[in-house]
Amino acid sequence: MTKTLLIKNARVVVTMDEQRREIADGGVFIRDNVIAQVGPMAELPQTADEVIDASRHVVLPGLVNTHHHMYQSLTRVIPAAQNGELFDWLTNLYPIWSHLTAEMVHASTLTAMSELILSGCTTSSDHLYIYPNDCRLEDSIEAAREIGMRFHAARGAMSVGQSKGGLPPDCVVEEEGAILRDTQRLIETYHDAGRYAMQRIVVAPCSPFSVSRDLMKESAALARSHGVSLHTHLAENLNDIAYSREKFKMTPAQYAEDCGWVGHDVWHAHCVQLDEHGIQLFGRTGTGVAHCPCSNMRLASGIAPIGKMRAHGVPVGLGVDGCASNDAGHMLGEARQAMLLQRVGFGPDAMTARQALELATLGGAKVLNRDDIGALKPGMAADIVLFQLDQIGFAGALHDPVAALVFCTPSHVSHSIINGKVVVRDGQLQTVDLPLVIERHNRLARQLALAAGSRPA
Ligand SMILES: [Zn+2]
Repeated sequence: MTKTLLIKNARVVVTMDEQRREIADGGVFIRDNVIAQVGPMAELPQTADEVIDASRHVVLPGLVNTHHHMYQSLTRVIPAAQNGELFDWLTNLYPIWSHLTAEMVHASTLTAMSELILSGCTTSSDHLYIYPNDCRLEDSIEAAREIGMRFHAARGAMSVGQSKGGLPPDCVVEEEGAILRDTQRLIETYHDAGRYAMQRIVVAPCSPFSVSRDLMKESAALARSHGVSLHTHLAENLNDIAYSREKFKMTPAQYAEDCGWVGHDVWHAHCVQLDEHGIQLFGRTGTGVAHCPCSNMRLASGIAPIGKMRAHGVPVGLGVDGCASNDAGHMLGEARQAMLLQRVGFGPDAMTARQALELATLGGAKVLNRDDIGALKPGMAADIVLFQLDQIGFAGALHDPVAALVFCTPSHVSHSIINGKVVVRDGQLQTVDLPLVIERHNRLARQLALAAGSRPA
């Protein structure tokens, strides 16, 4: 039996379709998990099995988060890691993360996803690259299923520890054969290549400074033999560039190309220090970038040249990055920071509010190599969010309610529909008990800090 859902009388529907239509007094008609019609109310069915009145709301495609480390939500604001750059920050955190357990990965993924969903995100990638104790990628996949989020689970890995010249301590690295075998098992068990897939697997060695050249190359071969995407960190800050030049005698972009890590099925996080050659290479090959402005500011990594990347045709999406370097997971807030940071770097017209929303929707979809999310039009997945306009942060901004979403105080959704299912209704998550999620998360965060020998307040 088909189930229909009508979102009606929206103040404005932001479609992100080819014409970037914004439809006043619009609506969206959904059949099961797919959008059937989008348009002015006069052209739509007037009722459905379920009806949501959006007369006080902006309606837009669910936002897409292209880079995260959800387990890091357990280690927000760790005192020793509050004020360092990337390599210092990592060196302070690795020993704590070595005490992670499967239960902690599951709990922190639920927390991070709750925060993302409430801030407008409906699809997220998560880059889990550390597997101490009993941790498995399944711990995060199960959390995504419980909460009902569209999920790209990236099987990360580290294999070059300090004794071999890498950055991470030896106790958190894995053997390369085991990494590849586990990644293949995960693809064969969980990857859904179909349209409207809720669950995909990504092959994702952590970074050039924590895995070998062989693992980078073999990962690319494995991913391509199964038609799955590739993801890693690249050219994040100047130390990262120096490491690449010293170890590989190449820039990060040259190294990525040498390892087979360019193409429409590849996306790299950060790329703050991507050079001219790298930008042209990424544009030519359709290699994607996950831009993470809050993390880049937090670690003082620099300002990624997003305008230049886009001018060269580089697909760019947004990422909140892990909650140890953000320390929020607010997707709409990240779009706001993207707009503001580009202006700091390149002038007041460097990014508009609508361009920031485009990065957060269409841009993210392209980076994740999907054509079924990121816009509201017939045939697209029913991933839709509603923001209520008559709240304090938007008061006085209703001349342009769409731009207000980005310019004003980052807001929470009133409704979120993911794959046709109402996951947030009237601001309340329907699929998990949020106070219990937070309580369990805080208990495990304290347990993790105690296991690592630091004394929480
Ligand atoms: Zn990251």
